[in-house]
Amino acid sequence: MENGNKVAIITGGGSGLGQSTALRLAEEKVNIVVVDISEKGGNETVEMVKKLGVEAVFIKADVSKQEEVKNYVDKTVEQFGKIDYFFNNAGISGSGSYFLESSIEEIEQIVGINLLGALYGVRYVAEVMLKNGGGSIVNTASSAGVIGQDSVVTYSATKHGIVGLTKSMVAEYGKDGLRVNAIAPGPTETPMVKSFYEANPAMKENATKGIPQRRLGKPEEVAELVTFLLTSKAEYINGEVIRIDGGFTNTK
Ligand code: NAD
Repeated sequence: MENGNKVAIITGGGSGLGQSTALRLAEEKVNIVVVDISEKGGNETVEMVKKLGVEAVFIKADVSKQEEVKNYVDKTVEQFGKIDYFFNNAGISGSGSYFLESSIEEIEQIVGINLLGALYGVRYVAEVMLKNGGGSIVNTASSAGVIGQDSVVTYSATKHGIVGLTKSMVAEYGKDGLRVNAIAPGPTETPMVKSFYEANPAMKENATKGIPQRRLGKPEEVAELVTFLLTSKAEYINGEVIRIDGGFTNTK
């Protein structure tokens, strides 16, 4: 089994894209560390994943706090001795307000979770990976990380930041066996998007109209891409930002 004994950390693993990816990686016999701020979601994923016959643990963390990020990395190393794969995925969308109507607290919260959380994660995880000769990281960007969109200015700024993190890490550490790629999903039917569109119904209709395939993405489709990028099947793909959006950003 190619992926047997491999260990993956998934942040935001308690829901949506993180949970789907945990299940898909477990099918490949990868052991899973689920990191999430939600105990309920995190434990739910662990139970689902264990049924597929791999080891799985939940570590509670708020990724915007560097000491909690260091803790999930340290705990993973204590338990498994290494980190092969990292799906750096936890994120929030924000309220959908126009930028000049956004509070400073909301701006700081989105930046703290989506950008600082991702930077801290790569900072500590890559250190462990490089000591062991390398590893593979997938960061979650977004369509809003490759094009400009209204109602998501802060979110878009953080996701463009994820793209910079991805490319520049490869410039520094590609030679040492580190692969870092990003995914840029369009609207995908996860709990985050469902609640966002419930609060902003006109945006759902608009979003679907703007997608050439005329439907939202499915979490399982994203999980398939992340699994491919993380594992050795994508060995020579590095520093890429792969769009998975039904053609949405290509028409912009
Ligand atoms: P989701 O809300 O279903 O899942 C996100 C998970 O992250 C939740 O379990 C939540 O508890 C966790 N989380 C939130 N804040 C956290 C924190 N501070 N620390 C630790 N965990 C935290 O959302 P999703 O749609 O699966 O989103 C996952 C990622 O994908 C996000 O980075 C999001 O920006 C990105 N994304 C989603 C879509 C989409 O349409 N669903 C599109 C593009 C990008």
